[in-house]
Amino acid sequence: MSSLNAGEGGENDAGASRGRWVEPGHLYVVATPIGNLADITERAASVLRGVDLIACEDTRHARVLLDHLGVRKELLALHEHNERGASQALRDRLLAGCSAALISDAGTPAISDPGQILVSVLVEAGVVVSPIPGASAAIAALSASGLPTRPFWFEGFLPAQGKGRRNRLGALAKLEATLSFYEAPHRIVKSMADCADRLGSERPAVLARELTKRFEQIASGTLASLCRQLAEGEIPARGEFVILIGPPSPETSASPAGASADALIDALIEEGVAPKTIARVVSRTTALSRNQVYAEVLSRRDSR
Ligand code: SAM
Repeated sequence: MSSLNAGEGGENDAGASRGRWVEPGHLYVVATPIGNLADITERAASVLRGVDLIACEDTRHARVLLDHLGVRKELLALHEHNERGASQALRDRLLAGCSAALISDAGTPAISDPGQILVSVLVEAGVVVSPIPGASAAIAALSASGLPTRPFWFEGFLPAQGKGRRNRLGALAKLEATLSFYEAPHRIVKSMADCADRLGSERPAVLARELTKRFEQIASGTLASLCRQLAEGEIPARGEFVILIGPPSPETSASPAGASADALIDALIEEGVAPKTIARVVSRTTALSRNQVYAEVLSRRDSR
């Protein structure tokens, strides 16, 4: 049985009980497009038009969308550097009867974006928080990936530094789920190489680039083949990326030998051992050559 509502005024419309979309004292968490303005929903536009104020990550960025919708409202900046203070100020306004929307630069607020602290402060204060669903890059990528959609692990951004990233990937290596990561273009090559190294180069994977935009690209393969396509420019290291990696299987897991070479290199760097010595020791105990280990040591030291 369908649970769709006809729209404003429908019998079960959240927030439409008085013929309006917006109730005083409520916060609406409004998803916005991830690249294509046409993906704004009708309800999102109505709520943005109806609220008293809009909390947003970046006021200049928000104005592009709001101008497109013809919305002129009071804007309140709420970003990672002021989220706690701004949340308390917004809570007080909501408790005084003001209605508000929260948007981020793109996609769903609080999903690898500011918003989670605000929502927890409001839930604690008994303020009604209502989602206005729409685009989110991880779900859009997953839906078109062909990889198993459950279980599904949403990680968001991996640590920016090489060592932290490899450690985190190591901790996720055995998770029986499709993994999803957000990544910035200047780190995509290194992150994909670390994924191949720590999770197994033969694991099935998808790189979803520039979703909903003009140069949308959804490339499937193994981690090794996608790394090669990135290296050869078939997948440009430009734009926005979601990395999806299928669950592990006995055939695709990283070899124990590879993992131990990695751990050994990291441990020796941490102990302050000279690169030449690391190269000599590790090449003697693994299948890697001295030159390979030496180059690896230098790149890991640079990315720390
Ligand atoms: N809140 C957003 C959401 O719901 O998807 C995510 C915000 S996060 C700061 C931005 C990251 O999401 C980008 O670095 C990229 O990894 C991913 N992303 C956002 N838009 C995308 C798009 N159009 N195509 C691919 N990835 C995208």
